[in-house]
Amino acid sequence: MDRETGSSDVSSGPIGGGAFSWTWLLVWLAACFGLGAITAWAAVGAQWYFAPLVIFPLLTGVLLGAMVVGAMRVAQVGNRTTIVLGTLLAVVVAVVGQHYFQYLETYEEESRPAEAFRLAAQKYPDEVFGQPPRPPGSLVEFMTRQAELGRKMGLLGYTAKGAMAWVSWTVDGLLVLAAGMAMVIPATRQPYCSRCRSWYRVTRGGRVDVAVARRIAQVAEVAESEEARSARCRMLNCHGGCGPTALELVWQESGGGTVLVQKWLEPELRRSIDEVLDRAVEPTEE
Ligand SMILES: [Zn+2]
Repeated sequence: MDRETGSSDVSSGPIGGGAFSWTWLLVWLAACFGLGAITAWAAVGAQWYFAPLVIFPLLTGVLLGAMVVGAMRVAQVGNRTTIVLGTLLAVVVAVVGQHYFQYLETYEEESRPAEAFRLAAQKYPDEVFGQPPRPPGSLVEFMTRQAELGRKMGLLGYTAKGAMAWVSWTVDGLLVLAAGMAMVIPATRQPYCSRCRSWYRVTRGGRVDVAVARRIAQVAEVAESEEARSARCRMLNCHGGCGPTALELVWQESGGGTVLVQKWLEPELRRSIDEVLDRAVEPTEE
């Protein structure tokens, strides 16, 4: 059971995200297009070795989502609409791109015999019969042909043909989308400082004794868990250190539940909590 308390305190802090800008949107979309293309290219290569159903598109989505989150933090892109639009584009490029790279491969493979056939027919018109191999002329033509051939699903030797092949590709795409969004959406919920345009990052944190966590909760005047088995404390700040500190206390309860308590700390309160933590680590440094 997860409970969140103290979230009303959070709304007073800098959680509005970055402002929207068309320039940033265009730059971000271009970057996400690139990330999607890299993912598609890597996925086509990996498929030769390892492509279990369901798991492969989920892994693809996780990889893509991790790259989008990394880019978002490195470039300090803070507008959530911009981030989500970029992620959508990256997923579409990663999914369609996989088919596109396969189409290019097939085109390349089939162009050579087609050319050889054409040359032979030119040279020996009386001895060469039949139709030359015809490489697919477009991505849609390639996919329609693949659908007719059918897609082996690996399970029970089932082959998805025609509409079922398209359904299976769509499901793959949705799995990539789900996994990608599952990585990106929680990352955008972190606080973002719109003054110095940076994401909050952990500046101090780790596991603390329950007694220390109780002391922190008392100093910060936030809820304590009665049945806490262990506790973690994290403090987050923006890059410029301009905003208040975000305090997160996580109580692990003996029943297996987790209670998250969050609060914005003004500098004075932050110093008090630093003192509590400093005193707590002193004995171990002897
Ligand atoms: Zn800041």
